[in-house]
Amino acid sequence: MSKKIPMRQCVGCGEMKSKKELLRIIRTTEDEILLDRTGKKNGRGAYICPNGECFRKAVKAKGFERSLKMAIPKEVVENLEKEMEKIAAG
Ligand SMILES: [Zn+2]
Repeated sequence: MSKKIPMRQCVGCGEMKSKKELLRIIRTTEDEILLDRTGKKNGRGAYICPNGECFRKAVKAKGFERSLKMAIPKEVVENLEKEMEKIAAG
């Protein structure tokens, strides 16, 4: 029997990938935007490939805003990008 791999769409490039290939960004119940490295926190989530290109595409196209249903302050975007680049760099 083959296990079904849960697929999610990157809000940057729009490609479908397995959850573990993507980073999860969530909006918490307190309306905070966080990078959820465990993938287990509660909240509305958006998925993104762990690279700067997809991140910038998503920001430009307002992909996070659409997925998370709120406006995201510029400094939050900048923090997320920094955090993401750290993860992407290993
Ligand atoms: Zn992508």
